[in-house]
Amino acid sequence: MDVKTCRKCGRLFNYLSGPPICSACKDELEKKFAQVKEYIRENPRASMKEISEENDVPQQQLQQWVREERLEFTSDSPIQMTCESCGTRIQTGRFCESCKGKMASGLTNAFKKDEPKPVEKPKKKDGNHMRFMNKD
Ligand SMILES: [Zn+2]
Ligand SMILES: [Zn+2]
Repeated sequence: MDVKTCRKCGRLFNYLSGPPICSACKDELEKKFAQVKEYIRENPRASMKEISEENDVPQQQLQQWVREERLEFTSDSPIQMTCESCGTRIQTGRFCESCKGKMASGLTNAFKKDEPKPVEKPKKKDGNHMRFMNKD
């Protein structure tokens, strides 16, 4: 058996698998997760900040649960996740179904290559902003 230092409380514990967190902290985290999940169910329109403050959970932790697809938000929620690959609105995780499908079939390996990106026409909103600023 492996002995590790708990990343949260610093105590030594017998490490089995998963994140390096002792069972006490893991239980604590699971309790928080259940609490947050319940909170979101009752307050589907709560923002990330509200959820974080009301449940005393760092936003970083909330985001991690979302990435792990353990938390999801309804379309009512002000919290909108976007696909890290194409920017489509998604409700949980990191990628939309379509990108996940592409990744599964290996087509998106291209993303990891160091080839220069094809030049795209800039579609940034900054353009409008600049024009607005220069109006007078
Ligand atoms: Zn601990
Ligand atoms: Zn996508």
